[in-house]
Amino acid sequence: MMLNLTDVLLDDQRIETEVQIESDRLDFSFGSFPITRKTPVLLVIQKKDPSHLVIEGKAEIETEIPCDRCLDSVTALLQLDFRETVPAGAGDGPDQVPQGSEEEDEDDESSFDPDCFLEGYHLDVDKLLFGEALLNWPSRVLCKEDCKGLCPVCGQNLNHGDCGCERKALDPRMAKVLDVFSKFKEV
Ligand SMILES: [Zn+2]
Ligand SMILES: [Zn+2]
Repeated sequence: MMLNLTDVLLDDQRIETEVQIESDRLDFSFGSFPITRKTPVLLVIQKKDPSHLVIEGKAEIETEIPCDRCLDSVTALLQLDFRETVPAGAGDGPDQVPQGSEEEDEDDESSFDPDCFLEGYHLDVDKLLFGEALLNWPSRVLCKEDCKGLCPVCGQNLNHGDCGCERKALDPRMAKVLDVFSKFKEV
């Protein structure tokens, strides 16, 4: 949803609010993931100085990510707890907040592009959350530490039992030889 930031930007008020996440999917360039559970976002927004806002937020998003090895869905909990300093007056607000120093903030360590979630005097909460979800995305997703993965020959999920394929033959030349042998046996 779009949160109106006029009170913060023009009247220097501090906003503390709970906002519902509207989306039911996380859409990224590398895939689309269902949001299976979500808490409201707790947001605190205030001016840091004339040209910067501080946005603090907390939320939990549960999603399903395919296991890196067997592609089974794995429930992943993204615990978002962030503090972003962003330039105030990004976008095309009716009255641009006077631009102060353009120096980068030292405590702003993220490579965040506020243009994508600040539109004029409005904050696109879902977009902000998507960015934070991405920063908290697990680098490795396994359904279990010793996931056996998929059989490279027939594609069966080996956690559900062995398919009986001869998987030592990973070398394609070797696989061809074995094919010949199995055809020979069938005759
Ligand atoms: Zn797995
Ligand atoms: Zn197999």
